[in-house]
Amino acid sequence: MTLSRLGYNIFLKGNTYNRLHGLKKTNTFVTFPTRACSTMPCREVAQMSDDEVKKWVNSFDTVMTDCDGVLWVGGEAVPGSPDVIQRFRALGKKVFYVTNNSTKHRKEYKIKFDKLGFGGEMDEIIGTAYLAAAYLEDIGFDKSKSVYVVGSTGITQELDDIGVKHNDVGPDPVSSDVSLDAIRSCLPHPEPGVGAVIVGHDIHISFFKMTKAASHLAKPEVIFVATNTDEQFPVKGTGIIVPGTGAFVAAVETAACRKPTILGKPSKYMFEIIKHRHPGVDPKRTLMIGDRANTDILLGKNCGLQTLLVGTGCHSLADTRKWELSEDAEERRLVADYYSDKLGDLLERMSRL
Ligand SMILES: [Mg+2]
Repeated sequence: MTLSRLGYNIFLKGNTYNRLHGLKKTNTFVTFPTRACSTMPCREVAQMSDDEVKKWVNSFDTVMTDCDGVLWVGGEAVPGSPDVIQRFRALGKKVFYVTNNSTKHRKEYKIKFDKLGFGGEMDEIIGTAYLAAAYLEDIGFDKSKSVYVVGSTGITQELDDIGVKHNDVGPDPVSSDVSLDAIRSCLPHPEPGVGAVIVGHDIHISFFKMTKAASHLAKPEVIFVATNTDEQFPVKGTGIIVPGTGAFVAAVETAACRKPTILGKPSKYMFEIIKHRHPGVDPKRTLMIGDRANTDILLGKNCGLQTLLVGTGCHSLADTRKWELSEDAEERRLVADYYSDKLGDLLERMSRL
């Protein structure tokens, strides 16, 4: 494929063009609109020569990878993903797992990584529950105060690790009585000195939890942290929409009339904490792998990393080709540098390195 997305006539070999556009044509000249800004087209690893793959793999020595939709889907490893992660390590690359999921403590992830054959150490696992605790430490949170958590035990266990008090998570009694007296009776009293509100994924979120969170946040000095703002969990092809943390964050921030500090991807904080703990990490020599462009790939773009999109989760190559042609600069930022149908496909390509 001879390709320049800058505009004018572009020559695409039939197979590639047809796959992207679903047309029954052979080699085709296509006219794309001219625009002031350009986006480098995403390169399909499957179309790269062995030499190009070798040069690319040698161009990074740190790998940051998303988990759900890249390494596993549900409880099953994506075929080949554990082998590729192990191959990266065998090639001397440092691997970090970066996930927006706030429901698990790192030790729970460690068990899952080991069970599915990925391996890795605790300090290579960066989840947003851990980030929330790390953030409070970084800003010197007054540990005589407590944290009100709308979330799950992943967050509270990480807070326990740093000695910060918190409420119990899980279901709150839910009443159909929403009179002011009933609301007042559900609020903690006397106020236990809440210094921060953390919102993560909470399947037990309720009117009363939102009321508590927003009431704490009515004090401007109370810190407001959101683990992440993912809209949905990736359960492609099931016909079911599983709300992500973003839905809960939106509910609390709307009620509180305040914006939280967001820690998860695409916020730079996730990479900054890795860099802080591992000062040798060079953004230009770091590859970010993900299945969701508006979190994983955008994190890479925000931090100056190389990016690889895999097609086993949220977004596809077709999405990427559409964004390449978008007039919207924000959409063009979603275009990854590289694409592979699945991470496991890299194994055979790397076997000759
Ligand atoms: Mg994912």
